[in-house]
Amino acid sequence: MPKDRPELPPVEELLTAAVTAVGGVERPGQVKMAQAVRDAVESEEHLAVQAGTGTGKSLAYLVPAIRHAAESGEAVVVSTATIALQRQLVDRDLPRLADALEGLLPNRPEFAILKGRRNYLCRHKMAAGMPEDEDDQLFDPREVSATGRMVQRIQDWADDTETGDRDEIVPGVSDQAWRQFSVTARECLGAQRCPSGADCFAELARERAGEADVVVTNHALLAIDAMEDFAVLPEHDVVVVDEAHELADRVTSVVTGELSEATVSLAVRRAGRLIEQGVADRLQEAGEDLRALLAAAPPGRVDTLPQSLGMTLALVRDAAFACITALGPRNKDKDDPENAGLRKAAFTMLDDVHDTAQRMLDAFGPAAGGTGSGRDAPETADSDSRASDSGASCTGSSGTGASASGGPAGRAGGDAEAEEIHRAEVVWLEEGRGRVPPTLRVAPLSVGGMLRDKLFGERTVVLTSATLALGGTFDSLARQWGLRPGEWTGLDVGSPFDHPRRGILYVATHLPQPGRDGLPEAYVDEIAELIEAAGGRTLGLFSSMRAAKAATEALRERLDVPLLCQGDDSTGQPVKQFAGDPATCLFGTLSLWQGVDVPGPSLTLVIIDRIPFPRPDDPLASARQRHVAASGGNGFMAVAATHAALLLAQGAGRLLRSMDDRGVVAVLDPRLATARYSGFLLNSLPPYWRTTDPGKVREALRRLTADL
Ligand code: SF4
Repeated sequence: MPKDRPELPPVEELLTAAVTAVGGVERPGQVKMAQAVRDAVESEEHLAVQAGTGTGKSLAYLVPAIRHAAESGEAVVVSTATIALQRQLVDRDLPRLADALEGLLPNRPEFAILKGRRNYLCRHKMAAGMPEDEDDQLFDPREVSATGRMVQRIQDWADDTETGDRDEIVPGVSDQAWRQFSVTARECLGAQRCPSGADCFAELARERAGEADVVVTNHALLAIDAMEDFAVLPEHDVVVVDEAHELADRVTSVVTGELSEATVSLAVRRAGRLIEQGVADRLQEAGEDLRALLAAAPPGRVDTLPQSLGMTLALVRDAAFACITALGPRNKDKDDPENAGLRKAAFTMLDDVHDTAQRMLDAFGPAAGGTGSGRDAPETADSDSRASDSGASCTGSSGTGASASGGPAGRAGGDAEAEEIHRAEVVWLEEGRGRVPPTLRVAPLSVGGMLRDKLFGERTVVLTSATLALGGTFDSLARQWGLRPGEWTGLDVGSPFDHPRRGILYVATHLPQPGRDGLPEAYVDEIAELIEAAGGRTLGLFSSMRAAKAATEALRERLDVPLLCQGDDSTGQPVKQFAGDPATCLFGTLSLWQGVDVPGPSLTLVIIDRIPFPRPDDPLASARQRHVAASGGNGFMAVAATHAALLLAQGAGRLLRSMDDRGVVAVLDPRLATARYSGFLLNSLPPYWRTTDPGKVREALRRLTADL
């Protein structure tokens, strides 16, 4: 930090300059948020800010962030959940902001984007210095040729790209094709040893990030940076987490481990070329045992470890360890990059298989875990390469401590008990689909303790989203993040939209409760009447793909408007089509709940078929619910209702995207008005004018669309 801090203009002045430069209008909520971010950074206190759509929240945090970077000399990290927001920041907001603030700050603000290593083209692998992950299950010639065409497109693009960033390839390519040209951080040889190290795209991105004032990244890399003992991101003392409602889920994905016959086979293929056949065969056989066992087992949560599974996991673990030992010292080929690449790739997969099998055993307690082969013997040559972009190296059992706070209804158990409960991990079996074999997964019940220690314990964090208040408070999300009362402040700067005047929330209390068996006929009739009144212009948010498809099929025969269903579209751009034609309706599921931003008359009606509770057989949600209940809390409210509230708020938030928008959110599930938990859910939604009268709503829709 510089000894003499430069005298800089106040945040308010910088914000005015920024808003003027981007041609926007300064809003009271935006100023309030910028001041709160400034105060949080200065006082080093965590801050959670809910800022509704239209607030201009990215400028409200970027301006104080840039000012702090200019004053302190430290970078600020901005983390997002989606590529769309990353692009908006890097391609639109930050360049304009840099132009606007250049004359007011000592230097032009610099910014950079940094992703996990596997997102960049690996020049060394491209030059065939490392093994291809050929998949011998690829027997379908159509798949082979589709992947082959993608591989060709990557090769053509590789000649011209300046960044090596996968997201530049449009349309995108499959993970399988991309894997032929990328490595995880653990597989990377390290720039010093790699023959392509001097031109490495990932290294260049890191270099650029090291010189930036603002580094834009994603939640996964933020989590890896926080969890590992070495820095992945440049040094920083402030983090802004945008789309913070997604933080806990994204971090959970990073620390989720998986094991299947396919992962074991890949480890065998990689190690088989380097070790004695008999040692590799032992792992192959253990993998085949695992396949047979998983194929015969019912999918779902594994609450107690069957003896056969325990024995097979121990076999896999020990056989992987034997392969690791047979590979010899990790830095044996340090002067032979080609062999070093092969060995490193083999170590990475074997470590994953070994560690995940052990972690799954540990999830059932010390008796199940045993010490097995032990895992301390083979030394890691360079700890810098231990971070995997997929997070596979982040073992949750040791790194995921307890969230100290209880569920919304509080926890009766003492801290020690709660700590124990939330330290646990859950194991479940996912059934095979197509070429993907049945897969065992393991994830922590809570990532709160880990975030608390590793992220919030080290830096000042500002968390923001349009949806943080669930049931009227931020407490549910704060608990997921592991923040205790008194350790953070919350601020809701509201929304510039006049929700009660611009939007109606209609709950169809006359309809039956949704059943388990698809979409009730009465729901189809209701949807048809609403869409007719709106003249199309409808986004249908369904809680399952099955319901979305059933509604599409039934209504295509009855309605005279174009009806798109997510997944049907060959161009991959259904949202663009929907936005471009007001008569068109779009039906779909999860990604549409959060990912549609269509201002204007094309979106006048949002239909939600049912309250989006997690499925009863969702292994993580059900395990979390049970554990909260076991410690005296209300598991349903803490997990299922919180999940539903978040999605409902996001879904209902699709309606008003600009100041001129008007329309209706129609929830067909009557429980939103009648169930005992309805108050919690309703308090999570924007404050639209509410009704349960279908006639009034249809009339309002007809009036609205007549005015358009
Ligand atoms: S340094 Fe790592 S990522 Fe970069 S080219 Fe070499 S092996 Fe690939």
